[in-house]
Amino acid sequence: MKPRVGIPRALLYYNYFPMWEAFFKELGAEVVLSDLTNKKILDDGVNCSVDDACLPIKVFHGHIINLKDRVDYLFVPRLISVERNEYICPKFCGLPDMVLNSVRELPTVIDCTINLRNSYSSLRKAVLDVGRLFTSDYRRIYMAYRKAAQNLKFFEELMENGATPLEAMRGCHSAKGEYRYPIGLIGHPYNIYDNYVSMRIIDKLRDRGINVITQDMICSTELDRIARGFSKPMFWSFGKRIMAASRYLIDERQARGIIYLVAFGCGLDALVGDLVERRIRKRGIPFCLLTIDEHTGEAGIDTRLEAFVDMLEWGGAKECL
Ligand code: SF4
Repeated sequence: MKPRVGIPRALLYYNYFPMWEAFFKELGAEVVLSDLTNKKILDDGVNCSVDDACLPIKVFHGHIINLKDRVDYLFVPRLISVERNEYICPKFCGLPDMVLNSVRELPTVIDCTINLRNSYSSLRKAVLDVGRLFTSDYRRIYMAYRKAAQNLKFFEELMENGATPLEAMRGCHSAKGEYRYPIGLIGHPYNIYDNYVSMRIIDKLRDRGINVITQDMICSTELDRIARGFSKPMFWSFGKRIMAASRYLIDERQARGIIYLVAFGCGLDALVGDLVERRIRKRGIPFCLLTIDEHTGEAGIDTRLEAFVDMLEWGGAKECL
């Protein structure tokens, strides 16, 4: 029987799942996903994680509980840096420890460390360490990694052509429609693309004829070019992408407004949100900051979204909501 590797449908699932899936499948494993986020997953996550964790970390714990009794391994990588000279949120560094200390009776946790800040050597080590759990054939591990990298490239190209991660995972290019004007939707991928957490914000905007552009739909080289023009280098990879995307959307895509979806309790969003909002205010572009947590009601989000869209359509008032 094939070993079953569980991958939680949370956090960086929206950035890397096609790569992880290909890697494990090429090594002969069966990949098992947790269910789509639902009330039980959220409640389980809230109940077992530490109080001051942000919403996405709580949701991640809920997905671990949803998966743990169905798999032989749980994939919870320890991510420190995913780009040269940059870091990601410290919560990702401690994620395997948080899970191991908060959830009981876990299967083997694959907690390889990825730190690309100075070099790619930790990636090579992680690939080999994880690969050796399934085979002693180094060539097979290498080929699995190559296939995984190809899948990631294809997935990112689909997103840069306008697909959300979920559409790209299905191999779709993007939801085609008769859109009337573009608006930017920025925020962490695990907030904006998880339909339960975001309350289907993308679908709701598209239903109103709006072309939703997220930071993942913008070519990475464009974002890097804009980031090089920041007055100071931004060393948080997520924050850099969000800030660069907000500038690109205003200056080069003529977005009629910007919505920033933030998770309550996120330190990075608190800082970046303020920087983004100040710049957008100066340009007189309508801006809407939507904060979500485990108590957020859908009716409240819908009301604010509708008010924002109505304002854009009534002539683009320059006030922020
Ligand atoms: S960046 Fe913010 S939302 Fe994401 S894991 Fe860190 S604290 Fe949570």
